[in-house]
Amino acid sequence: MNKPMIMTPGPTYIHEEVRKALSEEITNPDLDPGFYEFYKDTCEKLKRLMRTNNDVLIFSGEGILGLEAACASLIERGDRVLCIDNGIFGKGFGDFAKMYGAEVVYFSSDYKKEIDVAALSDFLAKDSSFKLATLVHCETPSGITNPVDKICPLLNSYGILSVVDSVSAIGGEALETDPWKMDMVLGGSQKCLSAPPGLTFFSISKAAWKAIEERKTPVAGFYTNIANWRNWYTDKWFPYTQPISDIYALNKAVERLLLDSSPVERHKRIAEKVRYSVVNSGLQLYPESGFSNTVTTIMLPEGIEFKGIFDAMLKDHNILVAGAFGFLKDKVIRIGHMGENCYEEKLYITLKALSKVLKEHGVPLMAELHKLFSEGI
Ligand SMILES: *Cc1c(COP(=O)(O)O)cnc(C)c1O
Repeated sequence: MNKPMIMTPGPTYIHEEVRKALSEEITNPDLDPGFYEFYKDTCEKLKRLMRTNNDVLIFSGEGILGLEAACASLIERGDRVLCIDNGIFGKGFGDFAKMYGAEVVYFSSDYKKEIDVAALSDFLAKDSSFKLATLVHCETPSGITNPVDKICPLLNSYGILSVVDSVSAIGGEALETDPWKMDMVLGGSQKCLSAPPGLTFFSISKAAWKAIEERKTPVAGFYTNIANWRNWYTDKWFPYTQPISDIYALNKAVERLLLDSSPVERHKRIAEKVRYSVVNSGLQLYPESGFSNTVTTIMLPEGIEFKGIFDAMLKDHNILVAGAFGFLKDKVIRIGHMGENCYEEKLYITLKALSKVLKEHGVPLMAELHKLFSEGI
């Protein structure tokens, strides 16, 4: 079967070299000392990508597992957690914190804009007694990137641990874990890294390790307990058998990103061109500001159903585009220009098809999307 071109905000296209890595011969990852070195090498590569000297771990499970492991390992019943929210993932992070007994306080801001740092600063001046704060780097459903470079140092100045969902940003947006004083940065394999879905990885600062070690109550869970991994390398012991093939693929995918001269610039350039084409065609973007460089969220024109657009893109052009969920369900079309999806040719093909499909659905465009895209800015 001819697989569609997946222009979705994750999973993304997987390069042939990464697919080949998946099929490499395996060893017993619990017993072969060579695999401990390989796992460590993969973590070292992720550390370079995330600009951190903090420990990095890779867990077997999709991005959500990272969010849950952070909450399970850091939160004790009654801990005050600040949930910084300007979208579906931001708000949802608070639900995970509650699941582990946190008393959650929300700082919510306009869902069409990036987090208002000045307002957050005013809020913290009045109430800052939080053990940790959860926030999202890129709100994938709405296509908004938050200024984590400003937010995390601010939280740090109050001694609040920052736990950042960067699943759809790592590798595509600027990220400086240590200079920005980020305590936990959470990622996933299937977004900008363009590795198969199934792995999460995250960095843990010294302060975050300390909070885990100084817990008064044990972590409720095994799979989500980060403390089990404290001495994995010195003890040569993994809490459970590692998904070795997925880690082979992740290693290759990160290696490819590290060899790329400037992936952040590439994402920025292409995202700007996509937005230019959308706006100048007369279509509307969902966000008003804080535009993401990894995903673009376009408002569905009045009277147009998402399903019709999705079906025509797939049936007539063999391209998968995404809608969204929650309050954005049936309201937007999303194009994921992240990782291996983020190349001029792919966006040109996608926008050409979308222009045609929209026209066939009676949507008047001031100019064709792909032509505006090539015209660029
Ligand atoms: C993709 C993503 C995750 C992982 O969630 P899934 O929807 O299960 O893929 C978590 N956070 C953000 C911001 C994401 O984009």
